[in-house]
Amino acid sequence: MFGFLKGLGVTISQLPKKKVTVMYPEEKPDYPERYRGVHRFIPELCTVCNQCARICPTSCISLSGSRDENRKLRIETYDINFDICILCSQCTEVCPTEAIVMSDTFELASYTRDDFYLDMHWLHNNELEYERRHPDRAIPETDVQKKAGN
Ligand code: SF4
Ligand code: SF4
Repeated sequence: MFGFLKGLGVTISQLPKKKVTVMYPEEKPDYPERYRGVHRFIPELCTVCNQCARICPTSCISLSGSRDENRKLRIETYDINFDICILCSQCTEVCPTEAIVMSDTFELASYTRDDFYLDMHWLHNNELEYERRHPDRAIPETDVQKKAGN
């Protein structure tokens, strides 16, 4: 009986306190800017230097590019295999232009492993979606153009 009352006391004492849980999936958690979720990609900033792919400890990044009419390297394909990505963020740390950045996207559950191979278009759409959710964190278009050297 004493144990029951003690437990009830703990429960009642928690009622007025601020809730730390959210009604997921209707309500999404608000993760901080440094949260390491699924990547977002800004193709205009990528210089095809390959540093992200070289440092990746699980070799889950594959990319290709070609030179445009001005002999400038442009990214053509950029894929990440999230079947083996460990979200360590090393790729984003070495990227000299911040073309690849982590986001707060975390919902990748699927019934098929094929869905874990995400290409440049998916990753870029994730960037656009991220900017929509966090307009205050978006890189201004002028900065993108400046960094891209256009
Ligand atoms: S987060 Fe880590 S494991 Fe994932 S792609 Fe980047 S370097 Fe590779
Ligand atoms: S994403 Fe960054 S590190 Fe990777 S190839 Fe492009 S510029 Fe280089």
